Amino acid sequence: MTDERTIGETNIQDIVDIPTSGKKNIILDSQVLTSVMSCPRLTDFRFNHHLQAISGKANSLECGSIVHKFCEVYYGSLIKGVKREQAVGFGLAAAELYIQGCPDCTNFVTTPEQVKPKCGHHSNDYPGVHNTPKDSAEYKTGWQFVLDTCDEYARFWASDHWVPLEVEVVKGEVLYEDDEIRILWKAKLDLTCDTNQGIFPVDHKTMKQRRDTISLNNQFMGQCILMRTRNVFINKIGFQKTLKPAEKFLRAPISYSAARLLEWQAETLPFYAKQLLMFAEMEHYPPQFDHCEGKYGNCAFVGVCESDPGMREEEIKLNFMVGPKWNPVNEDD
Ligand SMILES: [Zn+2]
Repeated sequence: MTDERTIGETNIQDIVDIPTSGKKNIILDSQVLTSVMSCPRLTDFRFNHHLQAISGKANSLECGSIVHKFCEVYYGSLIKGVKREQAVGFGLAAAELYIQGCPDCTNFVTTPEQVKPKCGHHSNDYPGVHNTPKDSAEYKTGWQFVLDTCDEYARFWASDHWVPLEVEVVKGEVLYEDDEIRILWKAKLDLTCDTNQGIFPVDHKTMKQRRDTISLNNQFMGQCILMRTRNVFINKIGFQKTLKPAEKFLRAPISYSAARLLEWQAETLPFYAKQLLMFAEMEHYPPQFDHCEGKYGNCAFVGVCESDPGMREEEIKLNFMVGPKWNPVNEDD
């Protein structure tokens, strides 16, 4: 065991210490895997250097996080046996705190005198929003509308027959092992429910436009394998102002064949894990230009990559800060 090193909890770069003999352990979650598939250099910026845009999360991501916080506390309260009406109140209060920000746990750093924030939250559980105004503007969704949507969502599903079982639960399991590597896959599930057909993972997805979710998705495949199921439900929560509740609150299953899940687990996952190890050992993470323009806008690092190599560090200092160390399953989508 002394030869083995684990990557994930701190830096991908830590694995460069690995001796050439000995099996390499690698901890992966869907964020890192998807990032490696997209752009190695982006993976280096995000998961080795922990760079976060100073301007904060985009408005659409912040609105999604508010809804996730509502759902976490709402379903968590129901699981504890709280009455539905009161669970809605707890959920909305948590969502409001997420919007305002909790002064105790935001940017909290452990010291010998104080190990945990006095509010009882985990560090940065309630960071406050920076790109979401109270009222919606032309390109931005306002937080008041998001809170109203949460309330409307809970009322729409008031006689829900799905039984929530767990919220924000972290699961991990070794999904692959050969002579070279062992891959521990970690996933945080928004929710698991007993739907009467079985127990399934449920993923909350907020959206401004109606769109189908495609199944080529590391997060969903990983969740299915960990849950020993072939279905994941997408709990769609739409922000469309003109749609009726039944049109914007939809639960769509995504289904996989056993063969597709096996292919992902036995071929796709180890291929990209080995690529990641190679980049780390070479200490070189090449750019992948296919990923610079995305459906939600440009990659945050376009300005950095467009700078001359000697100027990139300066560009990073101007626009990014070093965030908390990556911990698998820290964050939502
Ligand atoms: Zn707090």
